[in-house]
Amino acid sequence: MQKEQVIIIGSGPAGLTAALYAARANLKPLVISGNQLGGQISITNEVENYPGFPEGASGPELVELMQKQAERFGARVLIDEVTEVDFSEGSPFHIKTHGDEFKADAVIVAVGASPNRLGIPGEEEFIGRGVSFCATCDGFFFRDKDVLVIGGGDSAIEEALFLTRFVTRVRVIHRRDELRAGEALKRRAFENEKIEFVWDSVLEEIRGDGKVESAFVRNVKTDDIVTLDTDGVFIFIGHLPNSSFFKGQLELDKKGYLITDERMMTSVPGVFAAGEIQDSIFRQITTSVGQGAAAGMMTERWLEEQE
Ligand SMILES: Cc1cc2nc3c(=O)[nH]c(=O)nc-3n(C[C@H](O)[C@H](O)[C@H](O)COP(=O)(O)OP(=O)(O)OC[C@H]3O[C@@H](n4cnc5c(N)ncnc54)[C@H](O)[C@@H]3O)c2cc1C
Repeated sequence: MQKEQVIIIGSGPAGLTAALYAARANLKPLVISGNQLGGQISITNEVENYPGFPEGASGPELVELMQKQAERFGARVLIDEVTEVDFSEGSPFHIKTHGDEFKADAVIVAVGASPNRLGIPGEEEFIGRGVSFCATCDGFFFRDKDVLVIGGGDSAIEEALFLTRFVTRVRVIHRRDELRAGEALKRRAFENEKIEFVWDSVLEEIRGDGKVESAFVRNVKTDDIVTLDTDGVFIFIGHLPNSSFFKGQLELDKKGYLITDERMMTSVPGVFAAGEIQDSIFRQITTSVGQGAAAGMMTERWLEEQE
């Protein structure tokens, strides 16, 4: 069984930044990539809100640069997926992947979260070409455009309100006839002249030629289908943290996010977490990178305290 000082589970912005900091502390961290090397940004065409890139950068370009920078200081990236962890006996911790078994003095969990998908035709095909899961990231690209927002909870309505800064019209498609969002948000949405509601309705298909041009919307009460012409579809139907195999090992909140303290430490001393797996609020590259840096620094400090 291979023994490591630090294993980082996940190779998104949080994991690669934790690796950079741990590597620069001479801990030679091993990053286990998971099945999406680079994480969510690896499927993002254009990132315009990451500092240092005034002209923007593609997601894969950022991933490559982050990986290269961490490797320059001694981090190693293993293309494999963690299948099982055992943190029950404290450090050293046991980690299994499809191909190997490891022991690690400290672990940083950076397995991220995934936006829930509708699972309809056109959704995957048009990601980055009109389909988005983040208004903060992509709203700017839709200046003077017409967009649909899918969902009726707090985040859907917050994002719809944010989008009204850029677009001419937001149509909120919601499967029920009332919103689940809080009262204050609801009031602001109903008062906003750019927001319209399409009640009792679900999206069936997204269509276009190279970019989103229209969507089929079905009324769940009458089964009638209408075609709405639109430039963008923003989907906000929840996020799923990738925490299933930490259940019973680490403390999770009600939504399944890992709970960390101010030092990014989970409920098990020596196991740290960073990025979207422990952050249901900010969900940005910059914030995930910041949390990864903090986890890398705190891991080094914790290991030193154990000596
Ligand atoms: C389409 C899209 C566009 C976006 N655009 C922007 C943008 O323009 N600007 C912005 O700031 N944010 C954007 N975001 C959000 C941003 O990508 C995330 O906030 C950020 O990637 C979170 O980083 P993370 O490292 O916490 O997790 P993730 O990026 O989710 O990475 C998680 C990592 O964990 C790995 N993993 C999962 N399970 C396992 C396992 N069992 N074993 C090993 N590894 C595992 C995965 O392979 C992956 O490498 C976008 C998101 C999406 C989906």
